Amino acid sequence: MTSKALNSFLNDNIADLKERGLYNEIDPVQGPNGPEIKIGDRTLINLSSNNYLGLATEDRLKQVAKQAVDSHGVGAGAVRTINGTLDLHLELEKKLAAFKGTEAVISYQSGFNCNMAAISAVMDKHDAILSDELNHASIIDGCRLSRAKIIRFNHSDMDDLRKKAKEAVESGQYNKIMVITDGVFSMDGDIAKLPEIVDIAEEFDLITYVDDAHGSGVLGKGAGTVKHFGLQDKVDFQMGTLSKAIGVIGGYVAGKANLIDWLKVRSRPFLFSTAVSPADAAASTKAVEILMESTELNEKLWENGNYLKAGLKQLGFDIGNSETPITPCIIGDENATQTFSRRLNEEGVYAKSIVFPTVPRGTGRVRNMPTAAHTKEMLDKAIAIYEKVGKELGVI
Ligand SMILES: *Cc1c(COP(=O)(O)O)cnc(C)c1O
Repeated sequence: MTSKALNSFLNDNIADLKERGLYNEIDPVQGPNGPEIKIGDRTLINLSSNNYLGLATEDRLKQVAKQAVDSHGVGAGAVRTINGTLDLHLELEKKLAAFKGTEAVISYQSGFNCNMAAISAVMDKHDAILSDELNHASIIDGCRLSRAKIIRFNHSDMDDLRKKAKEAVESGQYNKIMVITDGVFSMDGDIAKLPEIVDIAEEFDLITYVDDAHGSGVLGKGAGTVKHFGLQDKVDFQMGTLSKAIGVIGGYVAGKANLIDWLKVRSRPFLFSTAVSPADAAASTKAVEILMESTELNEKLWENGNYLKAGLKQLGFDIGNSETPITPCIIGDENATQTFSRRLNEEGVYAKSIVFPTVPRGTGRVRNMPTAAHTKEMLDKAIAIYEKVGKELGVI
């Protein structure tokens, strides 16, 4: 017999979510996650992936992944510290360090897992972490796991950060203090104010940690937000993911050699969870190579992002204040946002609605993620559908 308490917990809560319209039905995609996707028997223009550069379906990456399966098999076989460190993992880390301009890199199985690993390897209950209020869930969980005191500051509010940093230092309660931020905030597409953050960090001797999941491959000609501002020597942790612009799976921290040495002996997901597969490591290495050789995909991404933004803005949509290709289309009311997204879907555009509590109440939006792989024709078609649905629902 299974637990009655568990059953009633699950059934009651699922029913409650369904009643409030908050239960997320997941659409399975048939085939590759490219600029167009197939869901059921319909093909839709895909404006929802994080596959910024189109690398998830790139031929050169598929080729090296297949070769790695032939040469190394399908699994790493063990955790990195036993005998799961393959030459392919070391090549990936070496390539990433060159790309990021740091002494060393450690790779993990995912970006989420990387934040779980890296924050708690360095911070503990005698420390404090200053965390932007809009930081990603994996940062929040990584901070919690460390048991450090978490001090939230208002989003990108440098006066608030300085004030809270000063208070934390003057309290004399903490051994170490970290400031942690997303490099690019994925709901609005705005960029963290890293030059100011670094200044404040220098003034108060804060450890700096930038999660660049949405900045890598996008800003700094692909090398990320830290490079965009020329701050490679001033940021302690440059965290990134291999699952978004890089198109594969995995996460990493780039930094000084002593930091990476420490993470290799102290971060628990590195020590107790098997590394990414040979195909993943080889494909990620190839992706980084492509980005180092040419900025073509990066330029195409920006061109497409700017094209979509201009098209939607001209129609009269509120596209917020994005500084990156991420293009929110702000509708406001939660129900209206969900209806808008559903109508876009019915007309042929796959763009997800994002509403409270992910974003503040009354700022519901449909978020568009254009990629380098979209053609002008696809974007024109998407804009025409936006126009039709926008007029139909009285948004424009
Ligand atoms: C997506 C994301 C992650 C998690 O990365 P995965 O590689 O998908 O696990 C971490 N941080 C931020 C800011 C993200 O957007």
